[in-house]
Amino acid sequence: MISVEAALEIILSEIKTLGMERVDILSALGRVLGEDIAAAADNPPWDNSAMDGYAVRTADIKEASKEKPVILQIIEDLPAGYTAKKSVKKGEAIRIMTGAPMPMGADAVVMVEETEKAEVKGLPSNASIEGQESGVKIFKEAKTGDNIRRAGEDFKNGDIVLTKGATIRPAEIGMLAAIGKPNVYVHQRPKIAVLATGDELVEIEETPANGKIINSNSYAISAQIKACGAIPVQLGIARDNKKDLEKKLEFGLTADCIVSSGGVSVGDFDFVKDVLKGMGSEMRFWKVAMKPGKPLAFGVIANKPAFGLPGNPISSMVAFEQFVRPAILKMTGKKDIFKRAFEALLTKPIKKKSGRMHFVRAAIEQKNGQFYATPLEGQGSGMLRSMVKADCLIILPENIQDIEKDCKVKVQPLGEGLLYQDKPGY
Ligand code: AMP
Ligand code: MG
Repeated sequence: MISVEAALEIILSEIKTLGMERVDILSALGRVLGEDIAAAADNPPWDNSAMDGYAVRTADIKEASKEKPVILQIIEDLPAGYTAKKSVKKGEAIRIMTGAPMPMGADAVVMVEETEKAEVKGLPSNASIEGQESGVKIFKEAKTGDNIRRAGEDFKNGDIVLTKGATIRPAEIGMLAAIGKPNVYVHQRPKIAVLATGDELVEIEETPANGKIINSNSYAISAQIKACGAIPVQLGIARDNKKDLEKKLEFGLTADCIVSSGGVSVGDFDFVKDVLKGMGSEMRFWKVAMKPGKPLAFGVIANKPAFGLPGNPISSMVAFEQFVRPAILKMTGKKDIFKRAFEALLTKPIKKKSGRMHFVRAAIEQKNGQFYATPLEGQGSGMLRSMVKADCLIILPENIQDIEKDCKVKVQPLGEGLLYQDKPGY
């Protein structure tokens, strides 16, 4: 029996990252970026206005106030999408909209709210713009650069704006679009073969006869595979005989990795091992010091990693979360492959013997900025109900024993339980 940490190390040493493919950026949502992305231009490309207002020379409006406004002559109207034809000279302003490039001569923008339309008397007849007031009262002085978005203040030409290994979210897609990249290299999605084993299993559509149960693991495992961004390939149910197991496993070799469930308990495993050996498989380990999930087996068949998860539904799901998930994420090229653990306080004591790492299904609550973890009733490795109710797994290290209420523990989130709640979070 090896530790969880040692098992993880052995597994990851056998996992290779898959190759890449080019996809349109919207199809890249949730995929892992396969290249560093450099910007090919500054953003913003030029100095522009951050406000609707007036582009001015700060020298002209020194000490301007509500009581003593400075009146400037409006020489042009500049909407977003156009460049100014004129430059701003002493005593002049250009009406400017958010996003329009700064006109020459101006060194600040005064927002509309700090101005008022003005009559400008004695101006030459060409001073006013048709349909516009000819002048503007400025009520506030400004500093050079006020309300200007500087060229390159977001990022500069040549900057690496996205890094290889990042998971692509809407923000990354927005960035790719902003720099004019309609396509991007992402890692291939791993195909993971899923095999259930057991004479007792029937398909979901069947009514189980006495002694039989529905194969639920294939569904739960396939869903876990999908949640990692990989593609499950269903191999169905292999009966507990050499021939059937061999046939199904061989088909599984068309995938990038095989995940089976069942047939790894003491006794059973000799037969599975025989089949695997016959297929040229090299076993790396069998049995991990964890609860649930102890009889986990891992080997390599024809260069493909193969996980033999325990048959009990919770054992298989928990072992998947600890080992198969990081392995799949490594295949996808993801940089950070381990789930973050959070600290929480226990609301109830937990009984434990030293010698195995325990993963306890628990509900999470947050009060005054503190997480509280409540172990759920029904921790049996076949009990799905508590798995459904669980927001997280409490992780109790191998060497600790009974643990008291109010103790600090680490919790590993399951699904979105730690991310969502029944009321707004502010
Ligand atoms: P095994 O590891 O094959 O001895 O299975 C351990 C327990 O898990 C037994 O009670 C099995 O019936 C159950 N089990 C095995 N495979 C599945 C499966 N695919 N779906 C649901 N339960 C299973
Ligand atoms: Mg079995």
